[in-house]
Amino acid sequence: MKYRELKKKKKENIIVINFERPLQEDVYQDFLKSIRKLRFLCKKKVNLHITIHHKDIDITKEKDQRILNLYHIEKAINIKNKKDRYEYIYDTVCDYLDNCFQGKNLCEFKDNKCLGDRNKKFEKSCGCCHGKTRGTCKYLVNGSCSIKCMGCKLFTCPSLKKKGIKFRIKDIPLLNYFFNLRQKEVLAYTIFTPRDQVIERLIKFRW
Ligand code: SF4
Ligand code: SF4
Repeated sequence: MKYRELKKKKKENIIVINFERPLQEDVYQDFLKSIRKLRFLCKKKVNLHITIHHKDIDITKEKDQRILNLYHIEKAINIKNKKDRYEYIYDTVCDYLDNCFQGKNLCEFKDNKCLGDRNKKFEKSCGCCHGKTRGTCKYLVNGSCSIKCMGCKLFTCPSLKKKGIKFRIKDIPLLNYFFNLRQKEVLAYTIFTPRDQVIERLIKFRW
């Protein structure tokens, strides 16, 4: 979508964009490329309203991840306070990653041992992949993580990569189009760190 087209859609402080179902991939990709322009147009009082077939997106019923992305992009653009927006994006992406890993059991846990664990024949499973190389993490409590650390959640070990499973920032629109390069490094490489400390760093490196 061109900047001029988006500007034409702006009426009474609202930009309305309607998509048809099924969502065409080229239309979706075109929209993703226009997110930075939309963020600029929707500064201050202007809001974005995205509809599918002229109806609001119902995330309780929606199965298409691309349409769920549209919903969260709209929400994030409409949150004008930077800290609140970063918190929304952080929590949404962490939920998405948890859902992928736990919901689909990507790490193939069996008898409390994951795929990487079995492949490498660790003597003892500690319940968290990062704990094995650096000693047990202080945030590992009763076999599960007690904080929300996106860097840890984005991590995939060689066993998962061999199966073609990896999570890259450039494939997650809420990360790719809402943060600058320095902030993306913070998100990817800040591990063993609680959410609020990561958010503080994101704010420090904002434009
Ligand atoms: S990423 Fe690899 S090492 Fe970590 S829990 Fe999953 S399978 Fe195990
Ligand atoms: S912070 Fe990271 S390394 Fe520590 S328990 Fe949580 S996921 Fe594991």
